[in-house]
Amino acid sequence: MLLAILAATLVMSLIVGVRYLIVSGAFAAATRVKHPGLYDGLTPQIRREIGWSLASAVIYGVPAGVVAWGWQNLGWTRIYTDLQSYPLWYAPVSVLLYLIAHDTWFYWTHRWMHTPRAFKLAHAVHHDSRPPTAWAAMAFHPIEAITGAVIIPLLVFLIPINIGCLGLVLAIMTVMGVTNHMGWEVFPRFMWNGPLGAWLITASHHQRHHDLYRGNYGLYFRFWDRLCGTDKGVGDFVKAHAQARVRRRRVGGGVAGAAGGGGNE
Ligand SMILES: [Zn+2]
Ligand SMILES: [Zn+2]
Repeated sequence: MLLAILAATLVMSLIVGVRYLIVSGAFAAATRVKHPGLYDGLTPQIRREIGWSLASAVIYGVPAGVVAWGWQNLGWTRIYTDLQSYPLWYAPVSVLLYLIAHDTWFYWTHRWMHTPRAFKLAHAVHHDSRPPTAWAAMAFHPIEAITGAVIIPLLVFLIPINIGCLGLVLAIMTVMGVTNHMGWEVFPRFMWNGPLGAWLITASHHQRHHDLYRGNYGLYFRFWDRLCGTDKGVGDFVKAHAQARVRRRRVGGGVAGAAGGGGNE
């Protein structure tokens, strides 16, 4: 039995790790196409981001693996496979409930992580990314990774959800985690500007958290930030892109200098 649980956690860790590499890799590639040079000079930082993220993947796999094993073998959790088990309208509601619950958990644990001791002990690792890249999605100290890893495995005991809807929640979690850090806005303007954008979190909101360190603590929604007066609005990427230009000049300058040519920017 112990071996089966261990195998389940290993498989989950592997899935989380590979999912991270594929999604972060895809958005990093998109960054190279859309904003060439944005990550120039950040290679040592990206290496650190990948290292912390893969360590986090191992941690995420443990509660996920144990719960998945219990679900399969002991009938744990309120995950259901037959969509008809609950009224159809409940499917989108359950997804929203998970996102709201996760967002609430994230907001308060994240605020706690910005208290001086917790920041120094754990959260400083995540803020070492200056500016973050698509690879920073899971760049957490193990303590922070544990707070992130337990929430979904806990929620599946409390809120009924169809297995497909759970997959959707995890997909949203993964894509938002990556895109919120990648240094540019991939979503249409109405999602981060205007009436809907006033309540949703995308890269323009989270990048500002990384710029200011204070405020904008939320994950998906701006509800808690607005309620608690910690919302600092959305930034634009002018500063991040200007910094990238300076780095590029510095990195490219050495090459151009050696070749005796001038930069083209
Ligand atoms: Zn933070
Ligand atoms: Zn972040």
